[in-house]
Amino acid sequence: MVQHIHKAAVIGSGVMGSGIAAHLANIGIPSVLLDIVPDKAENRNHLSESAIQKLFKQKPAPLASKQNEALITAGNLEDDLNKLAEADWIIEVVVERLDVKKSIFELVDAHRKKGSIVSSNTSGISINAMKEGRSGDFKKHFLGTHFFNPPRYLKLLEVIPTDDTDPAVTAYMKSFGENLLGKGVVLAKDTPNFIANRIGTYGLLKTMHVMKEMDLSFGEVDSITGPLIGRPKSATFRTLDVVGLDTFIHVAKNVYDQTTGEEQAVFDVPEVLARMHEKGWIGAKVGQGFFKKE
Ligand code: NAD
Repeated sequence: MVQHIHKAAVIGSGVMGSGIAAHLANIGIPSVLLDIVPDKAENRNHLSESAIQKLFKQKPAPLASKQNEALITAGNLEDDLNKLAEADWIIEVVVERLDVKKSIFELVDAHRKKGSIVSSNTSGISINAMKEGRSGDFKKHFLGTHFFNPPRYLKLLEVIPTDDTDPAVTAYMKSFGENLLGKGVVLAKDTPNFIANRIGTYGLLKTMHVMKEMDLSFGEVDSITGPLIGRPKSATFRTLDVVGLDTFIHVAKNVYDQTTGEEQAVFDVPEVLARMHEKGWIGAKVGQGFFKKE
């Protein structure tokens, strides 16, 4: 295993990937932020470059200071595979689909350096399923590291070892998470949606089912589940906008497919979410979800 994480590669420059790269920059760790090459784009690094540009403008800002931006390099996964070999830690933060994640790990396995740590930021897909077909050294150094949104501000980090993860790697990531990233680390088992999302997603979906039963408005629910009971204004629908409805639907389906009975019924995605998704109203990242960008 690497002695220490001096350099990272973050694959996926969306809501979470860019936030994780910023959080690493805030503690002085440089990273390369890699995404796909957009169709017909002149600038092959367009996605990660524009994600980096937003990091100091967003509120609350993922970057602690504008200077930290220099620690994040933009790239893309087609042209910059050689950068994977420079990283002590490679974290996958792409769309919540097992097939896409597995294809990324196949590339990572072929281009990483031996001993580097590899992890997935999945919200709840099986970590054991992701390492199928990978090399022995990859499997030994692979685990889940699940950050919460926004990564700079939310304290929880779930660390999820697989059956093959070297216990020294798990212990190192726990200590790195606590002492360098400033997180409260919880070791979780590889169960659907792990711990916090099994409970949190259930709560959000149950709220939506009850709302329908009681014929409440979105504003009423956000208010009653938020400031009126001492929780932040982002309690229900603003939270869904921040998470992104596309991601949330994948996360809900993941548990739906693996449960039965009453729990499964709660994880059945409400029609309104599916309709909004179809229209492309997927939340803050596109400026329109339950709320429009102010
Ligand atoms: P997002 O949609 O904001 O970003 C995903 C990024 O991955 C996009 O920039 C996309 O272009 C890129 N991507 C897709 N396929 C790729 C590929 N083959 N190669 C390289 N890049 C690729 O999604 P997000 O909200 O940042 O979620 C990313 C991961 O983090 C998911 O697994 C999600 O479940 C998890 N997660 C999300 C949240 C949240 O609140 N949004 C919280 C915790 C964990």
